[in-house]
Amino acid sequence: MFNPQDLLRPHLKALVPYSSARDDYKGSEGVFLDANENPIGSITEADWNRYPDPYQKALKEKIGEIKAVDSSQIFLGNGSDEPIDLLFRAFCEPGVDNVIINPPTYGMYKVSANINGVEAKEVLLTPDYDLDEDEILEAVNDHTKMIFICSPNNPTGNDVSLEKIEQVLTSFSGIVVVDEAYIDFADRPSFTTKLDQFPNLVVLQTFSKAWGLAALRLGMAFCSNELLAILNKIKAPYNLSGLTQQTVLEALSQTEKKDSMVKTILENREALKERLSALELVQRVYPTDANFFLVTIPNARQVYEEMIDKKVILRDRSKVALCEDGIRITVGTKDENDALIAALKEL
Ligand SMILES: *Cc1c(COP(=O)(O)O)cnc(C)c1O
Repeated sequence: MFNPQDLLRPHLKALVPYSSARDDYKGSEGVFLDANENPIGSITEADWNRYPDPYQKALKEKIGEIKAVDSSQIFLGNGSDEPIDLLFRAFCEPGVDNVIINPPTYGMYKVSANINGVEAKEVLLTPDYDLDEDEILEAVNDHTKMIFICSPNNPTGNDVSLEKIEQVLTSFSGIVVVDEAYIDFADRPSFTTKLDQFPNLVVLQTFSKAWGLAALRLGMAFCSNELLAILNKIKAPYNLSGLTQQTVLEALSQTEKKDSMVKTILENREALKERLSALELVQRVYPTDANFFLVTIPNARQVYEEMIDKKVILRDRSKVALCEDGIRITVGTKDENDALIAALKEL
């Protein structure tokens, strides 16, 4: 039986978490003289003088409805960066434990590992950018606490094989993090539907991409109640601002606006794919399940720099493992995509 307590760093087992001023009284009516807030108001037009809900209950209820996940299985953080960092801090002893990542992939897993003094073992994706599940399981040792899988994967764009993710979830006794930052652009169900089947699963999603809220910094982690309790125990008490909680709660009554933006981006994606593929300069346009393309262009670094001179900013991935001559291109608006193609034609 998977029990996250068995993976927890020893000094956290006995940790007494910070108890916030509002932990003993849950009502909203009362004379609140417990948190040293300014009782008069704020310097801003709207009042933000009271501390926000540390567990973001109203927002989680709403997200739970939209995602069809019980709100007791939702952690909200300051971007996905926060749950990624908290997972390292909860489970990985610096200099002792390790995690496995699958390059070419999202850079933050390794950075977070490095910040926390934890080794990130690299098991490359296969040449067609799928999981190498045998090599992953081969790389596991007694100190491997987590495996990070990004799908749809950044920077390659593709979903990795869902069967292989399930094999890793079944065969590995530690935590498997499935990062679904781009799930809204993919044509498949989320791994949140498998939370009850896999107690060692953590699914990451974000409001930074499809929802268009990157500046608010709001990331989600979906996991078992036991894993959630551990994240809640070590997070900063008021990790999400009241402004973020209120703004997103209001915005979530307009999910159709998100759906319509995603539809437009998917249409633009298909049009852009045709236009990129037709360019002589572009060697290869990789298939994508996300809102970006990985393309290969000879002398990618030089092309990237010449495009900057034309004020079209792309993401140079040409030095990344398995991405030789690779450039990552976000699907923009129609006008932006026109500007991209025009600039590429001028090279
Ligand atoms: C963009 C992205 C995120 C989002 O990170 P936030 O901190 O939520 O903005 C997470 N994972 C991947 C793979 C991404 O590309």
